[in-house]
This record gives sequence, structure tokens and C-alpha cells, in this order.
Amino acid sequence: MAESPSAVSGILFVVSAPSGAGKTSLVRALLEVEQGLKLSVSYTTRAPRPGEVDGEHYHFVAGATFEAMIADGAFVEYARVFDNAYGTAEPALREVLQRGDDLVLEIDWQGARQVRERFADAVSIFVAPPSLAALEQRLQGRGQDSDAVIAGRMAKARDELSHLDEYQYLVVNDDFDVALAELRAIVAAERLRRPRQVARYQRALAEMLGPQGVEA
Ligand code: 5GP
Repeated sequence: MAESPSAVSGILFVVSAPSGAGKTSLVRALLEVEQGLKLSVSYTTRAPRPGEVDGEHYHFVAGATFEAMIADGAFVEYARVFDNAYGTAEPALREVLQRGDDLVLEIDWQGARQVRERFADAVSIFVAPPSLAALEQRLQGRGQDSDAVIAGRMAKARDELSHLDEYQYLVVNDDFDVALAELRAIVAAERLRRPRQVARYQRALAEMLGPQGVEA
């Protein structure tokens, strides 16, 4: 059953994109400029890449630990991507939202589906590249992966793109600054939805409209 968090709790933003679309850089830049927006740190069974820090980029755990967490019902969502498992733990998510902060989940389409089922108010955003050619160029530009790995990622990218119509918002990352401005516009618009504003300005509205105030 879908949950509908109270208007005063934070907003859950779900961001998905094919690998190489620039989602991680965009979300990082978004968090730098937006107050009250936090990033969810996922659990994964994959090995850390050079420069990745445990507890910051991911919580890196063994397969057995991940399976035990599934059995304990610790995840609000989890999925298997590229032979590895990824999941969002529930306690940390609830803690952020209950504090009134907004939270960004950078997860794949499988996870996004599960979050939508659990949280009816979740806001979902898809970040797409301007073209498949641009995507391939970006994946090659990283210079970290073999041709076979890149071909695998391209196939996965097409798969991810095929779920674009399940999302409420679409941001095409052609120009980074434009895409960032669009993400900020989404965050601003969602924060200005009437129920949240009514909760925030309850007192002033009661004064203007009488003791009945206004319904969220
Ligand atoms: P990477 O291994 O490149 O960091 O991530 C691979 C894919 O897993 C990306 O599409 C990323 O969005 C997704 N992913 C990362 N964390 C999670 C998570 O907690 N849940 C789900 N469902 N997908 C995740």
C-alpha cells in the first residue's frame, strides 16, 4: 500500500538515468546549491572504484550481508544491476524525511518503481543524454572501461531509457548548466506545492482566513 507522508515531512526525489548521462555530477552540483536537500547513500555489493569512499559514495557490503538485510526487510527498495545488488535502507531515509529535509535517491528504474509504490508523493525525475552517440562518447571518455564493458553499458542504457515514460519529469543533459537549472526548477516547484506551503505558513494563513484557516 502506498504511504502518503504528512505535508510537513521532506520530499522524496528519485533520479534515474542511463550510466554516462551525467546524473551523478548533476545531483552533486544540485546538493551544493540547494539547502535542505540530502543525498541517500545506498548499499551495494559491488567493489569500490578508485576514489570511492565507504559510507560516502556507497555503503560497500558483502553479498551475504546484503541478502541478510533483504531478509530483515531493511530496504525500501533494492535491485540487481550489472551483476551487483544495490539498495536503499529504510531507517536513514525516514530519519531525513521526518526531520523535514528533502532527500534524493539516485537509483535505477527498478528501484524507482518500488519507491513509487511505497511513497505516493515521491517525485521522479529522469535524466537523459541528448543522443545515444553522446552517451557512447561519454562512456568512452571515462577511459576506464573495455569495449565489451562499454557495449554492455550501452545495452543497459537503452534498457534504462525505455522506462523514461514512468517518470514525472524529464531533464535532457545536453548543456550541464541548463540541466542543473532545470533540476533546481523542479525542486523549487515541488517545494511550492500548496499543501507544503499551507503547512509552512499555517499561522499566517489562519490570521488571514480566520481560525478555520485553509485546508492543506
Ligand atoms: P554504479 O555502479 O555505476 O554506481 O551504479 C549502477 C546503477 O545502479 C546506476 O543506475 C545507479 O543509479 C543504480 N543504483 C545505485 N544505487 C542504487 C540503489 O540503492 N537502488 C537501486 N535500485 N539502484 C541503485
